[in-house]
Amino acid sequence: MANDYYATLGVRRDASPDEVKKAYRRLARELHPDVNPDPETQEKFKEVTQAYEVLSDPQKREMYDMGADPFARGGGGAGGFGGGAGFPFSDIMDAFFGTSSARGPRSRARRGRNATLRVELDLQETAFGTTRELTIDTAVACGTCHGEGAAPGTHPETCATCQGRGEVQQVQRSFLGQVMTARPCPACGGFGSVIRHPCPECSGDGRVRTRRTVKVKIPAGVENGIHIQLAGEGEVGPGGGPAGDLFLEIVEKPHPIFDREGDDLHCTVEIPMTAAALGTSVTLETLDGPEEIDIRPGTQSGQVTTLHGRGVRHLNESGRGDLKLHVTVETPHRLDEEQEALLRRLAELRGEERPPGKFSPAQRGVFSRLKDVFNQH
Ligand SMILES: [Zn+2]
Ligand SMILES: [Zn+2]
Repeated sequence: MANDYYATLGVRRDASPDEVKKAYRRLARELHPDVNPDPETQEKFKEVTQAYEVLSDPQKREMYDMGADPFARGGGGAGGFGGGAGFPFSDIMDAFFGTSSARGPRSRARRGRNATLRVELDLQETAFGTTRELTIDTAVACGTCHGEGAAPGTHPETCATCQGRGEVQQVQRSFLGQVMTARPCPACGGFGSVIRHPCPECSGDGRVRTRRTVKVKIPAGVENGIHIQLAGEGEVGPGGGPAGDLFLEIVEKPHPIFDREGDDLHCTVEIPMTAAALGTSVTLETLDGPEEIDIRPGTQSGQVTTLHGRGVRHLNESGRGDLKLHVTVETPHRLDEEQEALLRRLAELRGEERPPGKFSPAQRGVFSRLKDVFNQH
């Protein structure tokens, strides 16, 4: 008969690795020889540990589920622990203490922090790109000690407490018996070396604070909220560590006329009814300068004139968005006598004294639909 490892741990056959681990921890606390030294309990502890060794290893568990018991040879029983003597110690350590930490002294040099800078741009600048000189408060490598942190003529010395290992070992007694643990050396903070004479310029940090100017090229097509990453332009790290990155957060100032939707620009022009009927032209100050735009006779309110390629340049791509001019027709009001008489005469001529009106389902302009799409995000 094969051992029923699931029953031994008291878990279901579909128990997750976490449930298996929890069940084992609970039983191990109860049955550990340190807690309960009688032979029967010790035997039970071995069985539980064996079950855990199989069920906590995905490969062994799969083999076991298919009917092969890795411990069943030689009559089975609790004697053979994978052919070796003693417990699967590393597994037990993992289960109780998590994975062991990295060894050896840690470096004084650490990477510097990232920095973020807000950059306000107007539409002209985001549309075509620009170059900006930005002033940033940051940390640079100390020129006196070149990042080492020691006063000129001196160097960090090997720590006497840990002999440069950066950690000290400690024997702790637990219910598993004596356990060796390592912790960072308290004398040197884990660095393995001590700076006896800190650099007077940077107090041993290896860097000094300063104000610096960077010249930044901002590409065409950026928009509000975009972050531009400038690698290595952030703060230099302590101990001569590499610099972090500088992030530019783009803030686009609103334009008095143009609304930006992606790389397209929208604006509205209001013209009198007579001009819409007779046709006219308007001068629009585009991003590329003044442009004469033809309003054809019979233009309706809501009509859109598209100037292809007069919008914002695409980011990292060739080409530009469009400029869309929306026409609104203004109905004349506050008519004087003569104007009113003329309009009545016109209505008469067109047979429009009492028009029935044309009814249709509500139509929403392209622009308002666009707005809805953007508002959903
Ligand atoms: Zn220094
Ligand atoms: Zn030390």
